[in-house]
Amino acid sequence: MAQQQMGNQPMIVLSEESQRTSGKDAQSMNITAGTAVAEAVRTTLGPKGMDKMLVDNSGSVVVTNDGVTILDEMDIEHPAANMIVEVAQTQEDEVGDGTTTAVVMAGELLSKAEELLDQDIHASILAQGYRQAAEKAKEILDENAIDVDADDTETLEKVAATAMTGKGAESSKDVLSELVVRAVQSVADGNTVDTDNIQIETVVGGATDESELVEGVIVDKERVHDNMPFAVEDADIALLDTAIEVPETELDTEVNVTDPDQLQQFLDQEEAQLKEYVDKLAEAGADVVFCQKGIDDMAQHYLAQEGILAVRRAKKSDIEALSRSTGARIISNIDDIEADDLGFAGSVAQKDIAGDERIFVEDVEDAKAVTMILRGGTEHVVDEVERAIEDSLGVVAATLEDGKVLPGGGAPETQLALGLRDHADSVGGREQLAVEAFADAIDVIPRTLAENAGHDPIDSLVDLRSKHDGGAVTSGLDAYSGEVVDMEEDGVVEPLRVKTQAIESATEAAVMILRIDDVIAAGDLKGGQGDDDEDEGGPGGPGGAPGGMGGGMGGMGGGMGGMM
Ligand code: ADP
Ligand code: MG
Repeated sequence: MAQQQMGNQPMIVLSEESQRTSGKDAQSMNITAGTAVAEAVRTTLGPKGMDKMLVDNSGSVVVTNDGVTILDEMDIEHPAANMIVEVAQTQEDEVGDGTTTAVVMAGELLSKAEELLDQDIHASILAQGYRQAAEKAKEILDENAIDVDADDTETLEKVAATAMTGKGAESSKDVLSELVVRAVQSVADGNTVDTDNIQIETVVGGATDESELVEGVIVDKERVHDNMPFAVEDADIALLDTAIEVPETELDTEVNVTDPDQLQQFLDQEEAQLKEYVDKLAEAGADVVFCQKGIDDMAQHYLAQEGILAVRRAKKSDIEALSRSTGARIISNIDDIEADDLGFAGSVAQKDIAGDERIFVEDVEDAKAVTMILRGGTEHVVDEVERAIEDSLGVVAATLEDGKVLPGGGAPETQLALGLRDHADSVGGREQLAVEAFADAIDVIPRTLAENAGHDPIDSLVDLRSKHDGGAVTSGLDAYSGEVVDMEEDGVVEPLRVKTQAIESATEAAVMILRIDDVIAAGDLKGGQGDDDEDEGGPGGPGGAPGGMGGGMGGMGGGMGGMM
């Protein structure tokens, strides 16, 4: 394979099985793989975008419009293609929405770059031009952003609704966006929002409109004993991360019982210990006990006698959420419990949601954790509603944190393309071409929105540009009517972060792919084994190079068959 001349002697540095692609071939192979990924999700962009049905090897089906879900479900092996998938994952982690936008941008940046590479513009010039354009783009976006206050519920609801448009949740978006904003505002701590404090429970059965927000915590357990109350009002709550059981005797000690009295005495001792635990809890004033571990049968009986509602084997995360919401301290030693370790909730009750009994802890002073109960007619419907809600929670959180939004419908992209073309003139040299290519690439968003809505993309772009040229910077494409309208007035708004993050990760991935001019794959890996090896290979280990590489595009979309 790779040979170098040393004197007359060829020196072989790579094993015979390794596969190597260099120079233009490597570049165009990677660009093709990257753009193929973008092409796979392009038709889903926007409110009129289509859905995809993904079927995995075991036959399970996912129907979705969500970019990152589609790419995660596809079994993509090509390394450059995977870099584009990572763009979607970064976007998902950073904002939760805009995954399709980011991937489509990355693909278009690559395909515009290819045209310049064909004109013998060097990849490093392109990379530099793209980076510069991305910086300028973020400036332009920032200048065009509209300020939003954290308590501006109306705008936040518009942001929530925009993220749901075109998804399964759309038909109930009024109800759902109100829930999403209330959820985010409840868990917000000043200007920071940790969406992990918003739990989502999905229920198959009922209409999506009947979804609700419980400002508190729902624990997926039942009370441990039938004689315990179903509901407690004004509840003082104890949280235990220890069992209410008598500690097991050490494995190697043996208790020798010689007569029945002794056995009885031994059992009495155990019972007395359990009774003491329960008395401790009752003395501290607990009406409700959530225990992360087990509760002995006898202790259950004593708890029921005291009228205490107890739950055993609650999840650690639930116990923590309860602690945040009710103000209870988590206790590890029952002997130490005091009244001020207890938390408070106006209502603790066991209720039935769609045939499943759960404990609702509500009416807490400061609900630092909330639960959304999402309903839908079938499992596919609820799952897609859940994905839309996750996007929506992400954008509302980002808006609350950053306090800035942009109009949607291709408005900011049009503004960017115009601004960058202007800026390109001041760049000069060959990099100017790269900045112009970047501007052209950004146009892919309004163009795709128009295409997916069945409108003429050229007419739409011309119309958009002339409006923006005339200073109407919030003009965007109404996906339904096809008209260019004021997006801000139309209530189509997105957080600034969706766009800045999309530009940032799309540029980074495109630049990284462009700068590769040599692909060396360890050849002893056969296709299909690549995955396993990737997990085991240490950082930087070249052994993780994917099996499908040698085959060019052969490694792409294995799980999708002919679906795309
Ligand atoms: P992503 O995964 O990138 O969020 P979406 O399918 O959610 O992809 O589409 C987002 C795009 O749709 C954004 O450009 C957004 O501005 C646009 N959009 C959302 N609602 C509307 C609307 N009512 N009219 C026009 N464009 C819209
Ligand atoms: Mg979206």
